[in-house]
Amino acid sequence: MSDKINLAVIGAGPGGYAAAFLAADLGMNVTLIDKEKNPGGVCLYRGCIPSKALLHVAKILNETEEAKNWGIEFGKPNVNLDKLREWKNKVVDKLTSGVGTVAKFRKVNFIQGTASFTDSTTLVINKKDGTKEDLSFDKIIIATGSRIETIPSLNIDSKRLLNSTTALELPAIPKSLLVIGGGYIGLELGSVYQAFGSKVSVVEMLDGLLPGADRDLVSHLSKRLKEKFENIMLNSKVVEMKEVKDGIKVKIEDKEGKTAENTYDYVLLSIGRKPDTSGLGLENTKVKVNQRGWIKVNNQMKTDDPDIFAIGDIVGEPMLAHKASHEGRVAVEVIAGHKSAFEPLAIPAVVFTDPEIAWAGLTENQAKEKKITYEVTKFPWAASGRAVTLDRSDGVTKILVNPENQRILGIGLCGPGAGELIAEGVLAIEMGANLTDLKLTIHPHPTLSETMMEAAEVFFGQSTHVYRPKKN
Ligand SMILES: Cc1cc2nc3c(=O)[nH]c(=O)nc-3n(C[C@H](O)[C@H](O)[C@H](O)COP(=O)(O)OP(=O)(O)OC[C@H]3O[C@@H](n4cnc5c(N)ncnc54)[C@H](O)[C@@H]3O)c2cc1C
Repeated sequence: MSDKINLAVIGAGPGGYAAAFLAADLGMNVTLIDKEKNPGGVCLYRGCIPSKALLHVAKILNETEEAKNWGIEFGKPNVNLDKLREWKNKVVDKLTSGVGTVAKFRKVNFIQGTASFTDSTTLVINKKDGTKEDLSFDKIIIATGSRIETIPSLNIDSKRLLNSTTALELPAIPKSLLVIGGGYIGLELGSVYQAFGSKVSVVEMLDGLLPGADRDLVSHLSKRLKEKFENIMLNSKVVEMKEVKDGIKVKIEDKEGKTAENTYDYVLLSIGRKPDTSGLGLENTKVKVNQRGWIKVNNQMKTDDPDIFAIGDIVGEPMLAHKASHEGRVAVEVIAGHKSAFEPLAIPAVVFTDPEIAWAGLTENQAKEKKITYEVTKFPWAASGRAVTLDRSDGVTKILVNPENQRILGIGLCGPGAGELIAEGVLAIEMGANLTDLKLTIHPHPTLSETMMEAAEVFFGQSTHVYRPKKN
């Protein structure tokens, strides 16, 4: 008998596989179970990775289009959908098989199958090969992620109705596409199809795109999307859809109750995600879920059942791959007996549209809601040499600070590459940096990262490229 901890992880997304790998590194006996052939989860198979591969192609298409402003003309691009799909699938295969190989190196016992609890420490695993196995463990981590949310009344049986998974399979380049939902997934996929030549419209129930993101950041994106997209309908909702000869006829109601009908070649329903606890047998454990179905955990990722932990999308917002991985690592450290907790000061969020939007830490809306005293300092990208060389001065770097000690509370960016730049902001917040730290840190020139340093300089009325004397 070994005295090693026997751990099972259900679900091999970025939360589950990160947890399983660390557990193996810490000397545990690890079994990782997933329905798919390899680890990867939603993120690698039908989320972050395929969407970013396609957004990369969209970026190239947009840049070749814009190159005409700089004296270079490429002509109309010819999109070979089969080849593009093949390339995107290769990206997914390469990464998922790569993670599968890393699991083998670490001697993680990967089982392809569906797991469900028979009691707190026993799982019945229905394997892909048709066999069934009952296995007992010391501890179990649930990392089963989330599923696509639907609206039953709009769930018509039509190949022209896409969700995020089928949209990523690139069934066609629709002449017109209606995206229902102005969240990040809808806007990212809408941007992909727009770049491929579809006329894209968006309908959003609320009064702005990307609810939850800072309006100063969203305003730049909205402006560009209004130019690129056919129509953006805010304060509006789809009340009826039916398949007609060449598309889907959609009835849209605005906030005054007025309705309009339009036919779209394809419709993408992208209204959010819900917990994936179906068939898990949670009723055989002491695990509790909240009203919305997310598993309840404390800051050590412990559920109400002492032998069961939960991480990632299944425990709720923010539903992001890097949050899932970090929680996975915390759960494993707690199981290993370390004094660990999930207490980040900042979880970065990135919207990979063009321009990108990224933020970390406190947002201005949150500061207002929580009545936190703050000051804002901003650097407009129009004053950034690097942004101008890219012909992309439509961005901003915005920092929220504590007025007492100028400690950085939150950072938001809008502009190309914002998703890469935000990592510096996360580090600054986590390390308790203040604006003087940022101002005194020499940033390379000419880069967009200088906008972070100069935003700090603006606060003191000393930005080299912005004349904004400090108010007394
Ligand atoms: C289109 C799209 C784009 C996205 N882009 C980004 C992005 O750019 N950045 C970002 O951070 N996040 C992004 N996300 C979100 C990200 O994919 C999720 O936050 C992340 O995958 C959550 O990881 P997880 O480990 O919690 O679970 P998941 O990745 O959802 O994995 C859960 C796994 O559990 C398996 N499973 C479920 N039930 C069982 C069971 N009973 N037995 C065995 N296996 C089971 C599933 O098959 C799945 O493989 C995107 C999502 C989508 C849909």
